[in-house]
Amino acid sequence: MGRFEDRVVVVTGAARGIGYACAQRFAEEGGRVAVLDLDDTAAKDAAAQLPGSGHLGIGTDVSASASVDEAVGRVVTELGGLHVLMNNAGITRDNLLFKMSEAEWDQVVDVHLKGAFLMSQAAQKHFVEQRYGKIVNVSSTSALGNRGQANYSAAKMGIQGFTRTLAIELGPYGVNVNAIAPGFIATEMTDQTAARLGLEPDEFRRLNAEANPVRRVGMPEDIAATAAFLASDEGSYITGQTLYVDGGGKL
Ligand code: NAP
Repeated sequence: MGRFEDRVVVVTGAARGIGYACAQRFAEEGGRVAVLDLDDTAAKDAAAQLPGSGHLGIGTDVSASASVDEAVGRVVTELGGLHVLMNNAGITRDNLLFKMSEAEWDQVVDVHLKGAFLMSQAAQKHFVEQRYGKIVNVSSTSALGNRGQANYSAAKMGIQGFTRTLAIELGPYGVNVNAIAPGFIATEMTDQTAARLGLEPDEFRRLNAEANPVRRVGMPEDIAATAAFLASDEGSYITGQTLYVDGGGKL
């Protein structure tokens, strides 16, 4: 019996990368998964590739309230409920502070912070009503500060405060709210960073692995294993926490 049998799980930004690995893990453990991502076709294709059946892909912009409300409504109607929400969708628009445009600031804060707010608000109605729910937010080690990421680090530290506050408000209704702060995870996002730095993706990964206490970079599956634990009933006495999953990072 999988830990997510009879559970409906929503993962945002799940057409690829960390989100897709998490969707895959929830599906492997028996969950019916809704893949929400900006591109409708990519979301549907990803949902179709998941193990098992009864999954759903929906083109959704997490930073737009009408799109979020429509997607959450469809999940509840078409998959028959909602039990787990993973706020994973994310973008980077890196620049040093003096060059960062207002648009770069707004886009990053909108997707990460407003996106997590809108999705959580839409989900909590169902969670509170049924006295059950799990929210897993995705922060980052960049929350602690990272050159060229004033927008992203502010949003990712914001996610941690948001997580603690929702844990306090929703705890009495049987809802656990936690965050994962990944370190370097090999995905298209980190490949794009490599390109900006003028490095090949493999070289960038090698340099990051060398600097890490466990001498490897993280893989999306490392985050999926953590998300599945936090969203399972085994983690029901854990709430309001941010778990750094970074191989020891800059210890
Ligand atoms: P990724 O490969 O770039 O995947 C992110 C996904 O989110 C993409 O499919 C993207 O769609 C989607 N997305 C972007 N804006 C969206 C929106 N407004 N609404 C819905 N979906 C949207 O990134 P990743 O590396 O898997 O990162 C996933 C999460 O982990 C992010 O929150 C990221 O900040 C966080 N994280 C990553 C790392 C790392 O090292 N990779 C480290 C720490 C934290 P499009 O392609 O269409 O834009």
